[in-house]
Amino acid sequence: MIALEEAQAKVNRDLAVLAPADTPVSESLGMVLAETVAAAEAIPPFANTAMDGFAVRAEDTIGASKERPISLPVVATIAAGSVAPRPLAPGEAMRIMTGAPVPEGADAIIMVELTKPAGFDVTLMAEVPAGNHIRPAGDDISKGAEILHPGTILGPGHLGVLASLGRLTVRVYRRPRVGVMSTGDELVEGPEPLQPGQIRDSNRLTLLSMAKEAGFEPVDLGLIRDNEKDIERALRTGVATCDAVITSGGVSMGDFDFVKAVLTRVGDFSWMQVAIKPAKPLVFGVLDDVPVFGLPGNPVSSMVSFELFARPGLRRMMGRLDADRPRYQAIAEESMKRSPDGKTHFSRVVISEDASGQKRVKLSGGQGSHQLMSMATANGLAILPNGDGVDAGDVVEVISFE
Ligand code: AMP
Ligand code: MG
Repeated sequence: MIALEEAQAKVNRDLAVLAPADTPVSESLGMVLAETVAAAEAIPPFANTAMDGFAVRAEDTIGASKERPISLPVVATIAAGSVAPRPLAPGEAMRIMTGAPVPEGADAIIMVELTKPAGFDVTLMAEVPAGNHIRPAGDDISKGAEILHPGTILGPGHLGVLASLGRLTVRVYRRPRVGVMSTGDELVEGPEPLQPGQIRDSNRLTLLSMAKEAGFEPVDLGLIRDNEKDIERALRTGVATCDAVITSGGVSMGDFDFVKAVLTRVGDFSWMQVAIKPAKPLVFGVLDDVPVFGLPGNPVSSMVSFELFARPGLRRMMGRLDADRPRYQAIAEESMKRSPDGKTHFSRVVISEDASGQKRVKLSGGQGSHQLMSMATANGLAILPNGDGVDAGDVVEVISFE
């Protein structure tokens, strides 16, 4: 057996960041920026009002109060998206709506709540200083400023900034296209009654979904039978059309574990026995420059293997420096016993946080590698190093899926 870290290092050695590509801004959420974005325009592009109210000259409001209001004639109304018909003259007011350009000649906005209508006039009940409620041009982003830098993970706000600047495309590291296939003669799809010995394929949908959730582009390579010819054909299609390929099943010690046989025949693949439970067997290598992960078939094993090897490796391929899940120290709410076997155990757990912010953790159910329900209800994995496990109240390290 080899240590987890050694197996992870072997995988990461062979993964290179994908070349950046110009991508529609609308599709760039969660991708990593590969350019410096400079603002071609100021944002906001013009001085505008932050409030619904009246554009005035501050000096015309001096001394105004509830007791001694000042009246000004209202000479125009400016909606957002329109401009004043003429400059504001001394002693005048213009009705103005949030986002509308401040008219020339005005230097303050008095909010509508501090005014009262009086026929064609407005009555001001407060004095306002110059600049009041005015958002100057460039107040958010000044023209020419370098605002976003390579390595930034684009979130909804970044996409909004790019949209504000009129950008349609942005240069980002590509999402890897990740092909997923299931292998196994026992596997079928859909609702038809199962024949003796059959089970339904769950890994493919799970792994495709994990790929999607991690920010990759999932590609369904189908359900493949246990023979070398079909497996090799699917594999070749996969490496010809994807940036990475993931298989499930057929990498253990069974008589019909043909994935291992094909991979070791067609390229330079390593078959590893990793000192972890679940997910001990892993085949990894590069075929035609495309990394291929041969994950074990047990449903939980395939998910844990994806978590520990494929997810971090493939996130690095899309330039994400936050490739790994967050880890916390948590208090075990129940004992998590195990026996020494030379492996690190990853137990499916529910992580919660108590009122003081302390993470707490309990098992989410049965821990057999076929027991997918406890993976479905888990929001993390507890790491139990080789040994006897932990007692209730002990500190345990957890990987959080959230
Ligand atoms: P294998 O790694 O091919 O020896 O499979 C190990 C176990 O996982 C067996 O019980 C298989 O029936 C099961 N298994 C393999 N592939 C899948 C799959 N795609 N969906 C559900 N169970 C699977
Ligand atoms: Mg199999």
